[in-house]
Amino acid sequence: MERIYNFSAGPAVLPREVLEQARDELVNWQGCGMSVMEMSHRGKEYMAIQAQAEADLRELMGIPANYKVLFLQGGASSQFSMVPMNLLRGKTSADYLNTGEWSKKAIKEARKYGAVNVVASSEDKNFSYAPAQSAWKLDPNAAYVHYTPNETIGGVEIFWTPDTGAVPLVADMSSCILSRPMDVSRYGLIYAGAQKNIGPAGVTVVIVREDLIGQTVAGTPTMFDYKVQADADSMYNTPPTYGIYIAGLVFKLLKAKGGLAEMERVNVAKSSLLYDYLDATDFYNSPVAMENRSRMNVPFTLKDAALDEEFLKGAKARGLLQLKGHRSVGGMRASIYNAMPVEGVQTLVDYMKEFEKSHG
Ligand SMILES: *Cc1c(COP(=O)(O)O)cnc(C)c1O
Repeated sequence: MERIYNFSAGPAVLPREVLEQARDELVNWQGCGMSVMEMSHRGKEYMAIQAQAEADLRELMGIPANYKVLFLQGGASSQFSMVPMNLLRGKTSADYLNTGEWSKKAIKEARKYGAVNVVASSEDKNFSYAPAQSAWKLDPNAAYVHYTPNETIGGVEIFWTPDTGAVPLVADMSSCILSRPMDVSRYGLIYAGAQKNIGPAGVTVVIVREDLIGQTVAGTPTMFDYKVQADADSMYNTPPTYGIYIAGLVFKLLKAKGGLAEMERVNVAKSSLLYDYLDATDFYNSPVAMENRSRMNVPFTLKDAALDEEFLKGAKARGLLQLKGHRSVGGMRASIYNAMPVEGVQTLVDYMKEFEKSHG
């Protein structure tokens, strides 16, 4: 069977070139007689793979030298705990922006370690927009400010970087990292689960300014201490070696394709294909405020929800899979990460038009 177009929110589509290279190298990596999966993480072959992955990510994102890059496990969800454990640094509260389901989970976890001040929330409109910074009630004594630049479930993206003055800015970039250039120096810490826009599930990338680490709350498990992980080059224990290798192949490919500015250009073009059509019809609707429409996750509803099942069935018959919306939002969601080819989005739009014609 030929490959389908996979619109899953995560684990998500990976670049075909990367899968093919991994296949070619699966059993015998570059003539060394074994698979990357079988290598000692302390052997010179694997150490070189991980060092190259880090170097390529640093180059892609322009990560300054005073930031550590960590490859951890536990998913973005573990960062909901690790961030307060490491970044409270003797302070008693942290600021959080609430723009949806992932923000809410981060807030809930942080409350176990200190007071959480919700600086603004878009819950009043079912998380369909992001509050402007002028509406945020920032606390100058907060340990850090946490936000979710792309809410994967609601499809709400913030395209500007909040200004938090001297208070470190922390971002859960799980579903928008590598989709456009970001000024890393504006952040204290960035984290992302890999399975959306980086690689396979099982790797979590953390980028943290080095002066912020080393002051964990009492009782922090050793594995959850950024300083321990940084001092050990993410090898305090066995890192998720194969996932890091695949992530490294993705970083190399993005560099070869022109880097993050080029990714942004393509992502604008791909998401516009969908949004332009959603705006041109009233058969479908986008629930998200114009200025916050995510380029990575595009939720949409059919005017008549009774047609949802039939829409999904027809989509599947055309090789367009995983379009069902998250249970908390309903409708449809097309996740169109870096690895989704423009042909996939065009095929989806063509199908949507055809479906409208026969059911409108
Ligand atoms: C997927 C996702 C998470 C959870 O990631 P896990 O790696 O499954 O823990 C957290 N935040 C955002 C924004 C996500 O998209």
